[in-house]
Amino acid sequence: MNLILLGPPGAGKGTQAKILVKKFDIPQVSTGDILRAAVKDQTPMGIRAKGYMDEGALVPDEVVVGIVEERLAKPDCGKGFILDGFPRTVGQADALKKMLAGLGKSIEHVVSIDVDKEELLERITGRRTCRGCGRGYHIVFDPPHVQGTCDGCGGELYLREDDSEETMRKRLDVYEQQTAPLISYYADESVLRSIQGTGSIEDIQQKILVIIKGGKG
Ligand code: ADP
Ligand code: ADP
Ligand code: ZN
Repeated sequence: MNLILLGPPGAGKGTQAKILVKKFDIPQVSTGDILRAAVKDQTPMGIRAKGYMDEGALVPDEVVVGIVEERLAKPDCGKGFILDGFPRTVGQADALKKMLAGLGKSIEHVVSIDVDKEELLERITGRRTCRGCGRGYHIVFDPPHVQGTCDGCGGELYLREDDSEETMRKRLDVYEQQTAPLISYYADESVLRSIQGTGSIEDIQQKILVIIKGGKG
């Protein structure tokens, strides 16, 4: 199963992807997580990406396309993968189509998660992220068992620098301008399904499962 989770920052892509990983035993490919790891390790790519990320701008296509190309070629993506946060531009979507064709693969489902702006702001400003494994929590909607500590790996939870209200507003504009066009892009390819992203994490997971199990588009 080759799946894309599409949606604005805070829609719940990462949260849903991590549940699907456990159910289907296929990897989550999150360009945001990979970029944050590169920033932390101060690799050349991380150093280049950091400025864009702090500003809430997109990292150049060629950088993220390279990341995804490398990741999808790994054996653990053989049974399928969940793309979370990629593609974010039409250029990235075109590059993805080409690289998958080269591997004899294609995208089976694109699930677009809709959440209104006020709720996105509330989710993002309350989000806390694990330094160890990257899992997201919410101080009210999805708190860890022990405050400030990841349930999964015991890592420290922190507030991402780009999860401030100001940077979040910029990221929402970037989404509208550069990423939202992918909704019609994938509708034209007959693989798009849109769902309401409000409700409990479990309810949204059920909606995604219905789409995945229901076959194409
Ligand atoms: P969120 O989970 O809030 O949607 P991500 O973790 O996916 O955010 O992304 C964080 C930042 O990393 C983005 O604001 C952007 O700077 C960069 N980034 C992640 N994925 C991409 C991508 N596919 N193209 C360009 N930049 C990206
Ligand atoms: P994305 O990866 O799309 O940026 P996340 O999965 O990180 O989004 O979710 C953003 C924030 O919203 C996190 O703090 C997460 O705990 C919280 N969240 C996710 N799904 C829901 C939901 N259905 N209801 C309330 N809060 C949610
Ligand atoms: Zn963790």
